[in-house]
Amino acid sequence: MSKLIGKISQKMKNSKPDQILSFGASISHVEGLIPLTIGEPDFNTPTHIKQAAIDAINDNQSHYTDSRGIEELRKAAVDFVARKYDIHYDAKSEVIITVGVTEAIFDTLAAILDPGNEVIIPTPAFSPYFNCVEFFGAQSVEIDTSKDGFVLTPKALDETLKNHPKAKAIILNTPNNPSGVSYSEEEIKALSDVIKKYDIFCISDEIYSELNYEHEHTSIAKYISEQTIVYNGVSKSHAMTGWRIGVIYASADIITVIKDVHEYTVSALTANAQFAAVEAFTNGRDDGVKMREIYRIRRDLLHQGLTEAGIESVKPSGAFYIFAKIPDRFGDDDFAFCRRLATEAKVGSVPGSAFGKAGRGYFRLSYATSEDNLKEAIRRIKKFVGEN
Ligand code: PLP
Repeated sequence: MSKLIGKISQKMKNSKPDQILSFGASISHVEGLIPLTIGEPDFNTPTHIKQAAIDAINDNQSHYTDSRGIEELRKAAVDFVARKYDIHYDAKSEVIITVGVTEAIFDTLAAILDPGNEVIIPTPAFSPYFNCVEFFGAQSVEIDTSKDGFVLTPKALDETLKNHPKAKAIILNTPNNPSGVSYSEEEIKALSDVIKKYDIFCISDEIYSELNYEHEHTSIAKYISEQTIVYNGVSKSHAMTGWRIGVIYASADIITVIKDVHEYTVSALTANAQFAAVEAFTNGRDDGVKMREIYRIRRDLLHQGLTEAGIESVKPSGAFYIFAKIPDRFGDDDFAFCRRLATEAKVGSVPGSAFGKAGRGYFRLSYATSEDNLKEAIRRIKKFVGEN
């Protein structure tokens, strides 16, 4: 132990580890565990995308690149969302490539927040949003969506914004991690009508945009582009979590500020990964759609299995998670429930309150795993809840 550990920043003394990752690590020692904790595709990156990176290496693409990302990738990323979601950006000034959406979240909040600011977060929500808001000395204002089937209603949003006139931003995420809810075009339009009444940034995390089961994806930027900062990437749509490529789309003046933060921390991105992402966004444009049809089968399997086990959940319309209600007899301590599920039933899940207060009494299961794993996990869950 370093004798200087007491001298670390007050910020980090007050911080806690990311709850999704730390809970996953705390149960990883359980022998024979089926980890439905994992938020990443179990597919391999498509071969043609890997080949693009190999070609880039052989072509000596091994130097620092433009800090905003190589021009080919910015163009490909802009073209991808224009064709698919009808949102339009200038590749020269309105887009920047980041180390996954994870860096995008950090950079954006660094660029817009001052200590004491508030950020509206409909919950349950992806835990790094809270971590980063706190890191910059700001506060999260949670809107509990659990009573509305995990859908943020325009009314709840309007009331919250009225009561928090100084809020700097709202963070939306559709399709949603952890609830699996994906907003329809009508729902997005109705939320945009509320947001545009306020001087507030709308951060829209659309990393699961290619994983929609019931309808096409709608980006809120289609309606309020000036206020919106969109995130997308290749992690989930192209099974490329380890390549660490994310994209931010926003107006040029906002991108300039975000670029400054990005240059302090990351400078330039891995060159060959960027060439792989060009291939993903162009020739691999529809790779995600093929994977989606396999997730759909798994979603149906897991949802039905949980229902048969007497566990309630909203059937997900996007992403690859199910957010399920812990049966009342187990109490609402979701950390205790997930620990028992891991050690006694050997099924790994994530406690709902890792995603904000609205998640208390719930647990998240990922179906980004094989059908065989899911069938065995369902068998174990049924046995566990049947015996307790
Ligand atoms: N946003 C959401 C909602 C996520 O669920 C995840 C990963 O689980 C990320 C962002 C991070 O994505 P990336 O791999 O691009 O950093």
